Amino acid sequence: MRMTRIKAATAATLLVLGLAACGNAGNDNSDSGPDVKVSENAADSFADGSRMKELAQSGKIKIGVKFDQPGIGFKGATDKIPSGFDPEMGKILAASLGIKPDDVEWTETISANREPFLQKGQVDLVIASYSMTPERQKIVGQAGPYYVTGQQLLVKKDSDISKLDDVKGKQVCSVTGSTSLDQIEAKGAKPRGFDTYSECVDQVLNGTVDAMTTDGAILMGYAAENPDKLKVVVDPFSEERYGVGYSKDHPEMCQWIVDTIKKAQDDGDWAKAFEATLGKSGVDTPEPPQMDACPSA
Ligand code: GLU
Repeated sequence: MRMTRIKAATAATLLVLGLAACGNAGNDNSDSGPDVKVSENAADSFADGSRMKELAQSGKIKIGVKFDQPGIGFKGATDKIPSGFDPEMGKILAASLGIKPDDVEWTETISANREPFLQKGQVDLVIASYSMTPERQKIVGQAGPYYVTGQQLLVKKDSDISKLDDVKGKQVCSVTGSTSLDQIEAKGAKPRGFDTYSECVDQVLNGTVDAMTTDGAILMGYAAENPDKLKVVVDPFSEERYGVGYSKDHPEMCQWIVDTIKKAQDDGDWAKAFEATLGKSGVDTPEPPQMDACPSA
C-alpha cells in the first residue's frame, strides 16, 4: 500500500470532514471537473486495425461507470455527464481519441455486470471502482492501477463496531460480484449481498444490518452525505488497485490506456482530476501509483 495505515486513516477522516463541509458529498455536478484537452486528428495517431483507431474514427465510445458512488462515479437523474474520479479518467482517455465528454456514451455498470458488459461489447471500457484481480484478468483485460484504496467499514455513529474483530457474527452488507463481499466473509461476518452500494448503505441507515463494507474511497462519500449518522472505521485491511477494464478481443487497448494515464500523471491532469473529485475534501493528493506492465500479446 502506498499510504501508511496512519496516513490512510487520517486521510479518511479528512475526506469525511471535507466532503461534509462541502455539504453535497462531492456530487455537486455544477462543477463537471477540469477541462480536458481533446486531441485533434486523433485517428491518425493510431495503428490501422486497432480498436483505438476505430473509436477515434467513429467519434464515439461507451464507458461504464458507477452512478451512485459520490466522489468515485455519480450521476443524478438530470445530469448529462457523471462526476467523480472514474469519469474523469474516462474523459482523459476519450479526449486522447478526439472524443469530447459530451460524446461519450456514459453507461451505468454495477459490480456484478462489469465483466459481462465488457465481454458482450456493451461498453468499450469499464472505469468503475474496479479492482484488478487475477480472476477477473482471466476473462477481461484490466489496465492500471490508476488509483489504490483499501477495504474498510461504514457503521452508524453509535455503533459498537470499532475494530475488525468486532464484525464476527455480525450482519455486514456489501455488493454481489465485489471483492469486498468475499473478503468480509473471510473475517467471520455474516455477509449480505446487494446489487449496489446505495442499497447497502440504506440497510445500515435503517438498522437492518450492522455495517457495510467496501473500499474506503467509496465509504467516505456515503459518510460525507450523512455526517451526523455514519462513520468510517478500521484501518484499510485490503489493497484495492483500480484498473480500467477492456475486452480481451482488443489487447492493444492496454498500452494505450497505460500510456494515456501515465501522461496525465506526468502533466498534472491526474492530480487535477483527483482534486476536483475525491480531493474536494482537502485531502492531500496522493502520489499517482506506478502502473503494471501490459501482458505481452
Ligand atoms: N473495488 C472492489 C471491486 O472491484 C469493490 C468496489 C466495487 O464493487 O465496485 O470489487
